[in-house]
Amino acid sequence: MLNINKDAEPAFFTEFKEQHQPKSWDDLKPVTTTLRQHMMEQEQTVSDKALCTYCEKTVTLESSHIDHIRPKDQSGRYAHLFADYNNLAVSCCSKNSCGQKKDNDYHDDFINPVEENPADYMTYEVMTGKVVPASVSAKNRVENTCEMLGLNSCYELLRARILVLLSLNAYREKGLLDYYIDTFEQFPTLIDFYRREYLQRGI
Ligand SMILES: [Zn+2]
Repeated sequence: MLNINKDAEPAFFTEFKEQHQPKSWDDLKPVTTTLRQHMMEQEQTVSDKALCTYCEKTVTLESSHIDHIRPKDQSGRYAHLFADYNNLAVSCCSKNSCGQKKDNDYHDDFINPVEENPADYMTYEVMTGKVVPASVSAKNRVENTCEMLGLNSCYELLRARILVLLSLNAYREKGLLDYYIDTFEQFPTLIDFYRREYLQRGI
């Protein structure tokens, strides 16, 4: 999961809210595509590619949506945060992971990528590409967060991470890891993990 460093709320979004006094997310519809584009470009672009906050796959305007980290459903305890800029993240549209999988779930254990750096809690299993806790104390939070987002249960996502690991392994065996490790467009925290495991240790 990315760590999202939120910029100040964009002026056009603030102005729209002031002018229209939205009561629900639907009332914000005229500006949500522009808002999503802004967030993708300003906050979620790594090496020129916009990435899903949760799974770190590349997203486009056609293949993404704005996810409310704390859910916006009107009956829920976070309904009042529907227009809170710091509660918004761009997610891919996979049915089996990320924003759509999380849906209206939320738990205080959830690792919030705007408020915390997920890399402080999550690391990877090098053989499988699964997200695992970085420490014993992080176990419950990481497992709950992965469960909510499908980070270890979504077959397509796991397969994509394994393919990246297989490529990295092949480059490493040929002594070309240093040269190619920066060419991957997705999964920057997995790439960072691999770099720490194999380049910085000099294996
Ligand atoms: Zn995703």
